[in-house]
Amino acid sequence: MSPTLIQLAYLLAAVCFILGIRDLSSPRTAVRGNAIAAVGMLIAIVATLLTRGVVNFPVVLAGVAVGSAAGTILAFRIQMTAMPQMVALLNGFGGAASALVSAAELLRYERAGELPNATVSTAIVLGALIGAVTFTGSLIAFAKLQELMRGRPITYRGQQIVNGLLAIGIIGLSVMVAMDPSQITAYWALFVGSLVLGVLIVIPIGGADMPVVISLLNSYSGLAACATGFVLGNSGLVISGSLVGASGLILTKIMCDAMNRSLTNVLFGAFGQAPAPTPAGQVEQRTVRGYTADDAAIVFNSARSVIIVPGYGMAVAQAQHAIRELMTVLDARGIDVRFAIHPVAGRMPGHMNVLLAEANIPYEKLLEMDQINPEFGETDVALVLGANDVVNPAAREEEGSPIYGMPILDVDRAAQVLVIKRSMNPGFAGIDNPLFYKDNTMMVFGDAKATALGIAEALKEL
Ligand code: NDP
Repeated sequence: MSPTLIQLAYLLAAVCFILGIRDLSSPRTAVRGNAIAAVGMLIAIVATLLTRGVVNFPVVLAGVAVGSAAGTILAFRIQMTAMPQMVALLNGFGGAASALVSAAELLRYERAGELPNATVSTAIVLGALIGAVTFTGSLIAFAKLQELMRGRPITYRGQQIVNGLLAIGIIGLSVMVAMDPSQITAYWALFVGSLVLGVLIVIPIGGADMPVVISLLNSYSGLAACATGFVLGNSGLVISGSLVGASGLILTKIMCDAMNRSLTNVLFGAFGQAPAPTPAGQVEQRTVRGYTADDAAIVFNSARSVIIVPGYGMAVAQAQHAIRELMTVLDARGIDVRFAIHPVAGRMPGHMNVLLAEANIPYEKLLEMDQINPEFGETDVALVLGANDVVNPAAREEEGSPIYGMPILDVDRAAQVLVIKRSMNPGFAGIDNPLFYKDNTMMVFGDAKATALGIAEALKEL
């Protein structure tokens, strides 16, 4: 295939990626966006296979077969709650692929007795550095979320200095190799150093911040792919890598804003370390009021407006269909039902939207935090379904709280708050929630799915 046609194919693929991302910005068009982006990827893969640079088709096709089989099995088997781990792994493999391709290119030049030009040697160095950091950093993020290692930050004295010195060493080696690509030993030293740096910069970050780190590593994997695009002279890879790099960075910023944290604080704040034990004699005894599904049904029976706040527990319990059932029963009684979506409810951006869409809950009933917060004061019942941190008033009221300043859904301003969860266990941030002890809060202990169905059944009897 002629080089011009191949470039045109890459351009077409890039247009598909951009249209796909645009459509992914709304739940209504997300499925179409996914399909358009997938078609773009298919065009890019076919165009790449048709370039003259491909020397061994059986190996490439075997790789495609193994990768496709592994991807299909993972996609079918993965639980929605384990999606962040899955994304972490995919980012890591993307980084590894970029690092390996850049290493292979450098070795190819060496074997041919040639030296790459300055642009290519710089791209080779960047591909190795960013790709290797992304690979090991993503594996640590995966291990923390999968609980293969402890989620708490791993810190030690002088940690930032060690990381800083390693980073300076890697930068020095990078400059050396970029200026003189015949320095193969320095290249491998920078490669190994980058692998180690990926581990060292992620271990001091707490499990609670892992989704932000994964989004940042996603951005890195895009930048590594972009660098590899320059190494191979592949414009399709340069464009798609830049798109991933930019969108990952934007998502990271959105997540940091939703938690009222700076990126520096996420990366270096060691958020989620074991809290200092409360001194003896200072433990405050507070009581909570536990109720049954039947009690909750009575509260709904006299309500005119309800706001449902889903959280991570809804995902764990797979309670989205049960909550739809409850919504239908409330609708039939003429009760106004809306959903309040916090930007970091669950374990990944859009987690709640995806689950509620799966249960065919109309999009217009889903309101974002800024839209719905002024409404709580006028609402009869706020139903908190498996959410905890995103409704914790300590973020608004307690200056010493680790989540102080994080924007929350103001459920406590509703006339009555109903909280469905299984126990008094804390949420992801690992801190107590004063909401549960408030006079207008009723705790209904139980699994989110079973309890929501129980309330719906009890309401039908009233
Ligand atoms: P939380 O993790 O704060 O709380 C979830 C609650 O669900 C728990 O308290 C748990 O209590 C309850 N739960 C678990 N399983 C069930 C079940 N089967 N039935 C009923 N309840 C259940 O979730 P939120 O959604 O409120 O907050 C998300 C957290 O994740 C925030 O801290 C946020 O910063 C963090 N985070 C989210 C990101 C995102 O992109 N979404 C990114 C980064 C961080 P119990 O065990 O008692 O049932």
